[in-house]
Formats: sequence, structure tokens, C-alpha cells
Amino acid sequence: DAARDAMSRLVVDVPDYPQPGVVFKDITPLLSDHAGFAAVIGALGDAGRDGSGAVVVDKVVGMEARGFILAAPVALALGIGFVPVRKAGKLPRPTHAVSYSLEYGDATLEVHQDAIAPGERVLLIDDVLATGGTVAATRELVEACGGTCVGVAVLMELSFLPGRTAVGDLPVSAITTV
Ligand code: 5GP
Repeated sequence: DAARDAMSRLVVDVPDYPQPGVVFKDITPLLSDHAGFAAVIGALGDAGRDGSGAVVVDKVVGMEARGFILAAPVALALGIGFVPVRKAGKLPRPTHAVSYSLEYGDATLEVHQDAIAPGERVLLIDDVLATGGTVAATRELVEACGGTCVGVAVLMELSFLPGRTAVGDLPVSAITTV
């Protein structure tokens, strides 16, 4: 289909970035191609619709920074609001915060406490599901607000990493799996 085709043409493998042995998936050529960008935004948004096309989520959450680029147009396409989950210290009003471990050291993500209302159904969007740590931490933030995560939609799932295990029972929609 169009989204998968765009990904195979426009996502570039960059060997040894950001460190030796890692093959980084560079999505910037995809973003700069209107048809390709539109196709993947449509496909990601399908994770927030039921079989008849009705929107079944209340908010779209994107994780800094590439998640923002994808989640904001998905939210507009679905006719619902966008919520940013940011790295520590960037949000100006009271937040919930969750720390998690990365390969080297720790990271903290935050969300505004009033960004998601209790009972709201939330779709998470990011570019790549790798270890799943980012998604698991974001899910905790949504739940701290009283919301419910109904799924995570990503461009790419790296199947050689245990991302699905880390996200638990949260349904994962990936346009491609590598
Ligand atoms: P995780 O927490 O699942 O290990 O890592 C996912 C996060 O790292 C995502 O926010 C994603 O943006 C970033 N990431 C990890 N590997 C890659 C990659 O190869 N390409 C891109 N574009 N992002 C990556």
C-alpha cells in the first residue's frame, strides 16, 4: 500500500549513527515528500478509528521530538487534540513525570497534569518502537492523568529489540516491521 511503499523508498538507513553498530532510521526524506508524508499520517490515524472509520480516541499523544511531527497532523486529521510528552524541564505548568532507563543513563518524560482528562482514551504516536521504554513511560504518564492508552501507532517496529514485551498488553500498530 501507499504508506508502506513510501516508507521503503523514503526512510534511509544510516549505519553507525549515533554510535558504532547502530543503524539509524532517518525519516527526514519521508517528511519532505508530501505524498509519502500524507500516506503515513493517514495510516497512523487508522489506529484511532474503528472498522467503519469512526474516531474512537479522544487525544493523540506524541513523544518529543519526532513523535510531535507525526502526532500533530494525525490529531488534526482525526478532529481531536494533540498532547506533547516532553523531556524533563520543558513544560511550564504542573506536570506528571516518569523516569526510565536508557542504554546509557536515565531519561525523564513529563506531561502537563491537565493535558488529559480522567477517562479520556489516548492514542500514542512515535516514529520508531525500539526497546519500548519510551512508550512504557508515556503510558504511565497518561495513566497518571487518569486517561487510558488504547494503542500505540509507529512508523517502524524494530523486531530485533523486545519492544512489544516492554509495552505489555498495549496494542501496537506498525506500518513496517524491520
Ligand atoms: P525506545 O524507547 O523504544 O527504545 O526508543 C524509541 C525512541 O528512540 C523513539 O522515540 C525514537 O524516536 C528513537 N529511536 C530509536 N531508534 C531510532 C532509529 O533508528 N530511528 C529513529 N528515527 N528514531 C529512533
